[in-house]
Order: sequence, then C-alpha cells, then structure tokens
Amino acid sequence: MRLEDQQRSENIEDRRGMRIPGGRAVAGGGIGIVVIALIAMFLGIDPGVVTQVAQQASVSTAPQQRVETKAPPREDQMADFIAAVLGSTEDTWTEIFARGGKKYQKPVLVLFSGTVASACGHAQAAVGPFYCPADNKLYIDLAFYRDLQDKFRAPGDFAQAYVIAHEVGHHVQNLLGVAEQVRRAQSRGGERQSSALQVRMELQADCFAGIWAATANRNKRILEPGDVEEGLRAAAAVGDDRIQMASRGYVSPESFTHGSSEQRMRWFKRGLETGDIKVCDVFAAQQL
Ligand SMILES: [Zn+2]
Repeated sequence: MRLEDQQRSENIEDRRGMRIPGGRAVAGGGIGIVVIALIAMFLGIDPGVVTQVAQQASVSTAPQQRVETKAPPREDQMADFIAAVLGSTEDTWTEIFARGGKKYQKPVLVLFSGTVASACGHAQAAVGPFYCPADNKLYIDLAFYRDLQDKFRAPGDFAQAYVIAHEVGHHVQNLLGVAEQVRRAQSRGGERQSSALQVRMELQADCFAGIWAATANRNKRILEPGDVEEGLRAAAAVGDDRIQMASRGYVSPESFTHGSSEQRMRWFKRGLETGDIKVCDVFAAQQL
C-alpha cells in the first residue's frame, strides 16, 4: 500500500500500557460471562473467540490507569500506519456523505493492549478488533495483527487496513441508521432470523471496506500489486466457516455471525470493484 502522502488521523486514543486496576469485580463467572457474550454477539465478534474470552471474563467499571511501559518501536510504526488508514477512511466517508448532503462524524480509534473498558463493556484483546456503537469508538489491540499473520495466515499491510476499514464500516452503519433498524428487527424476530441479520450486517461492513479501498485508490492510488489479494485473503481468513473449522473442527451455518469466507470475499470485492455504495444493499440481496 502507498500511504506516504496520506494525512494521519487525529482521532486516535492511545491507551496502550494502561490497565484497569482493582482486579475482578465479577471473577470469571455469573453475570460477567453473560454480559461479555451478549456484547460479543451484538458486535458480531467471532463465536470461537467468545467462548475462550467468556471463560476468563471479568467486569470492572474502574477507570484505566497508565502504567510505566513503553511501546516497542515496531508498534509505533504500526500505530502510524493505523493513523494513516483511519485518515484515509475519514477522507472517503466524508466525501461520500457530503455527496448525499450529510456530514460524516469521524469515529475515534482506541489502541489498547491486553484489556480495555468501552461503553459496550470490558473487553479482552482475544475478542479481536471491535466497534462500540454506544461510544462511536473502534478498539484494536495491535497483538491481533500478529494473529492475523500467524494464526489466520493473512499477512500484509492491506490485510491490516481491511480490518480497520471493516470496523469503520460498522460505524457507517451506525450513522446511517442501519444498525438501529437491524436491532429492532432482531428484537422482533427469533434467534434464527437474528443471526441471519447479523451475517448481513457483517457482509455489508465488508462491502463498505471495499468501497473505502476503491475510493481511496481512485483519489490517491493507494493500491500496489498484490494488495487486493491480501485483502481477499484476510476477508476469507476471518470467515466463520474457517474460524469454526479451526476452533471446533466442524461448521454449522446457523451459528454464523460473519458469513462464510466465500461470502465475505464476494461482498468485499463487490464494493471494491464498483466503488458504488448502492451495491452494498446486502439486506435486499436474494443471494449472499
Ligand atoms: Zn464486523
């Protein structure tokens, strides 16, 4: 990717090296697990990861405190890269919203290490990057990028950018009122319908990630050879069928929250190839 002349976003909140004091208000059980599992379901975090997290879940409302640790230099490079990607998504969505006569409200991206307190609850790094609609913030632990490369076998800078663009996609859904409509429909429907809607939410965020890549490339030529493949690999790597297969050895489509690898690649590509937000109407699609 080429991001040298990309303006860095100022909406980064660096909470690396901070920890939540006071230990466990709810030690690994009871309501803690329920809260985290619900939040995770709500945010569309991968179910395979949720189980692990629920086992170690704890809830704390205490504020975070900075402790004396310094981020390694490699991580600082990474933080700069993230600021550039976030800046690029801000340019894209500001432009698209302006075309529709709207103002894009930029989200804040929180960098954290280990654990973090959000308006959606207290999360551990293991849940992966997530977006919290209650505070309009994206949360990412840089350690996830190591997993993306090693565990999910999706290396490369564009793979990392795709992950941010996907979470920004959830923010866009929040601003457009899609998230609210889906929540309402979910509370009316049964569990089956609810998870079907969740899959569509995720596929739309993938499509929005593609819209970002197309727009940024048209304006600033950010893509280099191999980048699209990296993005597709990342979309496939974090598909539910792959994650389920890796975590339990079998696949059950009813419990998908993100869509299959093939579906995720398809919707990302659709956004990327057209750059037209109209193609991202996942909710009207007959076939995913
Ligand atoms: Zn998502």
